Amino acid sequence: MPDKQRSIDRVKDIVYQCNRCAHCFDLSWLGEWNKCPAYRYGAFESYTGRGRFFIARALVDGAMDYDAEIAARVFACTECRACAEHCFKYLRTTDIYAAMKEDLAARGLVPEKLAAGLADEGGLGQYHNVYQAPHAERLAWLPDRARVDKPAQVVFFVGCTSSYARQNMALDTYNLLTKFGVDFTVLSDEWCCGHPYLSAGETEKARASIEHNIEAIKKVGATQIVFNCPGCQRAFRDDWRQLTGQAAPLAAMHVVELLADWVTRGKIGVQRFRPKTIVTYHDPCVLGRWMGIYDAPRDLIKAIPGLSLVEMPRNRRDAYCCGAGGMIRYDFEGMANLAGAERIAEAQSVGAEMVLSACPACVMQLQQSRQRAKSRMKVMDITELLEQQLVPLIKG
Ligand code: SF4
Ligand code: SF4
Repeated sequence: MPDKQRSIDRVKDIVYQCNRCAHCFDLSWLGEWNKCPAYRYGAFESYTGRGRFFIARALVDGAMDYDAEIAARVFACTECRACAEHCFKYLRTTDIYAAMKEDLAARGLVPEKLAAGLADEGGLGQYHNVYQAPHAERLAWLPDRARVDKPAQVVFFVGCTSSYARQNMALDTYNLLTKFGVDFTVLSDEWCCGHPYLSAGETEKARASIEHNIEAIKKVGATQIVFNCPGCQRAFRDDWRQLTGQAAPLAAMHVVELLADWVTRGKIGVQRFRPKTIVTYHDPCVLGRWMGIYDAPRDLIKAIPGLSLVEMPRNRRDAYCCGAGGMIRYDFEGMANLAGAERIAEAQSVGAEMVLSACPACVMQLQQSRQRAKSRMKVMDITELLEQQLVPLIKG
């Protein structure tokens, strides 16, 4: 008999609604490309949205119970949301996966390396970052500590990847906000945003992490948070509401939204990029499909003279995941590498000399994929580019 405490029963209203059309993973019969990195990797239907609906139905009916095989299917998913975006019946596919992950976590069936990375001892729970680096070194990239914990309108939420792995992005965002006179602070006791816990089905730990950060932000009196990481932004903007039923008491904005608004209103100047360069833009799944932010980064790129933007065949809502999502690199490295290689090949196919994105995790993944492919294309985050190209307007 089904266990009454299971999260899968919370979403049982949708598990019977799948009509088996396959739009969630394969539209090749319409001439479109594969959409699902999990299917590309696993090749079996059980890796796809449709396959997981079958599994979910069997779980709800009590015909199957959770085991390591189901865990391997459910966690081999970049959470790119392409399946939900293209579902013929607009089914909330990712709600099903999230429920299954919660149930798997409750049964100790999170894949080994991810479980270790997020553990309370020796993992995220101890260090408050996904790199197992000392918490005290979170602000090691800062040029000086004058802004730390000071009362301000805006908090720059740095995130784990910018804090520890791509510190140049932390510094570029910090410099951009400073250059344009934003009244902002950074927090000495910032924790991981909680997003990785959600990918592992650890919902309560995600809630506690976001709550810790909201309390820290309240202490400095800020009403707005600025991010360069879409995953962190989503934690405050959407996940908190999902977890608590209440909107976060702060406006959560990606730095590209802030800057695009200023550039299009002529509030800040733009320098020519030299030499002339063909660029393409990789939509981070969380910024694009999860949060609907497609135009702001493109508006910024188009505003820079000397850059010529060409789109990849799969762009905006059709963008193919680079393989950085869902924490898959921990246990499904081959899948992450496969997705990254495919995205780099796609960027090369349109003649791009540079790939831009707006997410530290995507940029790190694309840079590693570019190196493996021995491609000469440059990969940059848009904040790195903007720090060079945007200038304050001289008044008078
Ligand atoms: S979220 Fe992405 S990787 Fe996961 S099943 Fe859907 S399309 Fe595939
Ligand atoms: S697109 Fe939607 S309805 Fe069609 S098979 Fe996938 S989950 Fe089912």
